[in-house]
Amino acid sequence: MNIKDFRFDGSKKFKIKNFDTKQEGSFKDRQEAESRREDHIMELQGLQDRLYAEGKEGVLIIFQAMDAAGKDGAVKYVMSGINPAGVSVHNFKVPSTEELAHDYLWRAMKVAPQRGMITIFNRSYYEDVLVVKVHSLHKKVSLPERVLKNDIFEDRYKQIKNYEKHLHENGFRVIKIFLNISKDEQKKQFLQRIDDPAKNWKFGDGDIVERGYWDNYMEAYEDAINATSTPECPWYVVPSDKKWFARAVIAEIIVSTLEEIDPKYPVVSEDRKKKLAEFRELLINEK
Ligand code: AMP
Ligand code: MG
Repeated sequence: MNIKDFRFDGSKKFKIKNFDTKQEGSFKDRQEAESRREDHIMELQGLQDRLYAEGKEGVLIIFQAMDAAGKDGAVKYVMSGINPAGVSVHNFKVPSTEELAHDYLWRAMKVAPQRGMITIFNRSYYEDVLVVKVHSLHKKVSLPERVLKNDIFEDRYKQIKNYEKHLHENGFRVIKIFLNISKDEQKKQFLQRIDDPAKNWKFGDGDIVERGYWDNYMEAYEDAINATSTPECPWYVVPSDKKWFARAVIAEIIVSTLEEIDPKYPVVSEDRKKKLAEFRELLINEK
């Protein structure tokens, strides 16, 4: 599988209409993709251990998608491979009164990764150029005229790009993943959520309402992705009608980014080696 096919770094335009959400890559079937799971977990574990030990770079993984595209499952898949001490997950919901009293990046900045850590955002500040754009929610926030007279979303694309550049220049990688599902697949997933009592809790009244704005969301995604894809902080658009395929792609994306970082265990100095040898003697000769 070549993840470059799904990578947008600003050099080509992302056209959502031309994107096949049903792709399965070169996998023979679901079983074959799932048999890669163990390898992914081993690779992730090794790389994360070194990232944590080195403590130089941090990684921010952003998942964005329409409802029922598999964000939660993707987060679980990634988490299953890594040491919980080195990772945190944040879900971005409708902003609280306190959050709305700040600029929209505030709540994300507060929980941005530390060096050595992997932070996962389940939704993110991109909601502020997606749901907020689709429903013009910015008009409900008390913003000054001088802000509203500009194209607020064009301004936000710029601000987001600048923020991500800032992170990159300060030693953090930003991986942005859009789980792209078709409207048909969402319908199937919604029906499952309604028919399976164990999934009823996942279905909210608002989900059907948002589905009604499908085309507006697709346009907002296309615009946001094209405006914020850069070589340093690329977007990955992952075909997600087949969740098993999406998970395999996501694992490859994360592994390849960590390999690029190539974290190393700290080198032990000669002095320290001597000291360790002394401790060793003490332990061996302990009475
Ligand atoms: P879920 O992820 O399905 O639990 O739903 C979270 C909901 O919060 C989604 O409908 C998002 O669109 C919404 N949400 C997240 N961030 C924002 C935001 N900045 N403004 C308005 N709604 C948001
Ligand atoms: Mg939901």
